[in-house]
Amino acid sequence: SVYQRIDEVEDDVQSYITLTKDEALKQAKEVDEKLANGEEVNSLAGIPVAIKDNMCTKGVKTTCASNILHNFEPPYNATVVDKLNEVDTVMTGKTNLDEFAMGSSTENSGFFTTKNPWDLDYVPGGSSGGSAAAVAAGEAVISLGSDTGGSIRQPASLCGVVGMKPTYGFVSRYGLVAFASSLDQIGPFSRDVTDCALALNCLCGHDPQDSTSVEREVPDFTESLVDDVSDMKIGVPKEYFGEGIDGEVEEAVQSAIDKLEELGATCEEVSLPHTEYALPAYYLIAPAEASSNLARYDGVRYGYRNEEADGLVDMFKLTRSEGFGDEVQRRIMLGTYALSSGYYDAYYLKAQKVRTLIKQDFEEAFADYDVLISPTSPTTAFKIGEKSDDPLQMYMSDLCTIPANLAGLPGVSIPCGFDSAGLPIGLQILGDHFAEEKLIQVAYTFE
Ligand code: GLN
Repeated sequence: SVYQRIDEVEDDVQSYITLTKDEALKQAKEVDEKLANGEEVNSLAGIPVAIKDNMCTKGVKTTCASNILHNFEPPYNATVVDKLNEVDTVMTGKTNLDEFAMGSSTENSGFFTTKNPWDLDYVPGGSSGGSAAAVAAGEAVISLGSDTGGSIRQPASLCGVVGMKPTYGFVSRYGLVAFASSLDQIGPFSRDVTDCALALNCLCGHDPQDSTSVEREVPDFTESLVDDVSDMKIGVPKEYFGEGIDGEVEEAVQSAIDKLEELGATCEEVSLPHTEYALPAYYLIAPAEASSNLARYDGVRYGYRNEEADGLVDMFKLTRSEGFGDEVQRRIMLGTYALSSGYYDAYYLKAQKVRTLIKQDFEEAFADYDVLISPTSPTTAFKIGEKSDDPLQMYMSDLCTIPANLAGLPGVSIPCGFDSAGLPIGLQILGDHFAEEKLIQVAYTFE
């Protein structure tokens, strides 16, 4: 079983914060019974699925890899967890992440760093590094991540697996611990595109408990698993091949473009002129929303509390400075500053205007092209410790992924080769809102 594999590799890879073996074996037995009774089951029934530890699981610790939630056991399930239960998947456990999903390497986890299964000296990417590593190492067949600014696609790329961020609003965020609510989106990791399609079939759909959830029919995504890109028009955004891109990554992406052309697709260079403003806009908007979302961790209602404090204000201060790690505190301070009166117009409002311009760049591109393709990340995995003291360097690894979050667009990262060190390279395919079927169709050509 998958737990044998977990026993073999987990000490090295450290994908999981919590393993739920007993409950998993019980779930698996129930599936066996259904099958023995001749009941019809979903094609995902019995499949081991790992859940990023920022999605609520009833009675199972949900920590966000933060000391402030080290003992939090939610009294309810996230909608995605309920949906997985409905199709009888088996939950293997809860995976590691950068604290509150803030980071690109899992080094910001309040507990430990997950390792890249391809080479344990390297990071698995982040923030959903545990979920990506679990699938890459065979410790789960499918896993769930959340993508606020690349956190599904970038670790998928660095770990050589498939990672899909659906359109904003297509998958319910109910029970996902909020980081930046206007950007957060849940999606699956898998070994191949077929499993990705099956997972989307289960995860997408309207949820009245999430006010941003879209009412829209969910297609059968497996119908897009067709080997044909002959009438596709594909744009290649030149800004995603700028400074900082690794030569081997560029080459691998170029071969993918050549292959699509051989198969009859038309590939042309396009421009998304406001790309350079995406990172600065994101690093205002995301911390601003985070500073507001994270105000709820005050030591009063749940989670960690400093017990020695002298009075309420002192308790707030001590709880929050001991409970949150450095990166989270940095973002709360940045966000609080950007939202404060007098600075709001100069920073937050300006960033929102830039966000509109970025959205318009994509609207123009998708008027002419079915999908856009690019590297997922400018480089392959970096060494553990290499960028952890330099937040700006770390932020750069999200260059190609963040614009899609600002525009609410779907994107998928699929493996497209290896660099000379044997580390995986990822290809990103971006689509217009609700164009997941096209993403799957193009991605499937590479299997
Ligand atoms: N790396 C980005 C950040 O640190 C994205 C995180 C995410 O998508 N959750 O904010």
